[in-house]
Amino acid sequence: MGRKEHFVALIPEGPIRVGEVKPKGDYLGTRPYLPGSVLRGALAEWLKAQGREREIEPLVRAARFGNLFPSPSEGVYALPFPMTALTCKLASGFRAAASKGGHGVRDSLLLAVAYGELEGRGVRFPVPLLLRCTHRDAEGRLCGGRMERVIGFYARLPGGWEKVEVSLGLQTKVALSRRRRAAQEGMLYRVVALRPRPQGAFVGRLWAENSTMLSELCEAVAAMGVGGLTGRGFGAARLKVWPPEEKEKRAPLPPLEERVRTFNEKLREAWQDLAELAKQAGTVDDPLKEPPGVYFSVDLLAPAVLTDPQGVPSLKLWIRIGDRLLEPVWWATQPAFVGGFSTAWGLPKPTALGAAAGSVYVFRSELPEEELIPHLEALEAQGVGERTDEGLGEILVCHPFHPEVMPV
Ligand SMILES: [Zn+2]
Repeated sequence: MGRKEHFVALIPEGPIRVGEVKPKGDYLGTRPYLPGSVLRGALAEWLKAQGREREIEPLVRAARFGNLFPSPSEGVYALPFPMTALTCKLASGFRAAASKGGHGVRDSLLLAVAYGELEGRGVRFPVPLLLRCTHRDAEGRLCGGRMERVIGFYARLPGGWEKVEVSLGLQTKVALSRRRRAAQEGMLYRVVALRPRPQGAFVGRLWAENSTMLSELCEAVAAMGVGGLTGRGFGAARLKVWPPEEKEKRAPLPPLEERVRTFNEKLREAWQDLAELAKQAGTVDDPLKEPPGVYFSVDLLAPAVLTDPQGVPSLKLWIRIGDRLLEPVWWATQPAFVGGFSTAWGLPKPTALGAAAGSVYVFRSELPEEELIPHLEALEAQGVGERTDEGLGEILVCHPFHPEVMPV
């Protein structure tokens, strides 16, 4: 093994298209991030172009390609918001000056889990769980606006949090007949491409056993481009790989152990506040004061194709910890079409229905934390569901945004 984690940035030099074929078939969409498989594809095509097919498999096997998310800066990691992140309906976005006066983004997961778990144990609350905006204006007036889900990606820049915008460019192309090289009537197709914002990039993590593979990869991206329709004005890019020691600075994810600990500490606070509220309201005499067991979330950074323990397609995630199959105690998900990616025009992979990026599944384990951590590390390294080699099912255990009850 001995794979080292690197922070990488793909800097687009034009629009990039990644395949996502809508089920109706007449529309080519694009996803708002680049699947890790686009890098693998560029490497494979480049080696093939040089007659080095035999090197593809060992090189690809010596690496793991994480997905690449849009970031306002090539030097800062970005993550998709979990589905539980909410913002004010009246003034959405972060509070930082750069975010144009939003009322803030907060995460509702820990409160929702504590509420649901206490309710499941017979605790009744005087009011339903409904979060309102807690922003106060210069005169101290409370906003109190309704909250709605915030969709997309965010990065933590030196100047504060920032939501990442991706612009989609729409282009109409004329399909050429392969035989006659002539435009065929009625074969116009529309392409939606990701366009880089000024100085924006796609950033991600890459695990590699050696640096040879990384330099080959950089050359491959420069020579072949990435994504679909390269050679038709799409996909020109360059790849920047930071040395492993830079990873902490560029992608400052706390270690898994710390994320699990913070998650449980903040859950305990929310739990105790709610238990106290229920007690004061007199709906229950003696609510459970501590969360029973270690809780953790599994957050989808990319869509996942999941099945239930019987092998039936599902939007719910089951995970195996040692010899036990765990079912989530709480989850938030929605369906997403998962297109296949193919560099060859006209050969899309079958479209499957999966759980959308941002889906959150919370589990409870009775194992002590130190026994649980190695299982979670393995789960995070492996991802969940099918086609993880394409970047589907990339996860984070205890997404660092969950404890952010009110970041600025
Ligand atoms: Zn507000």
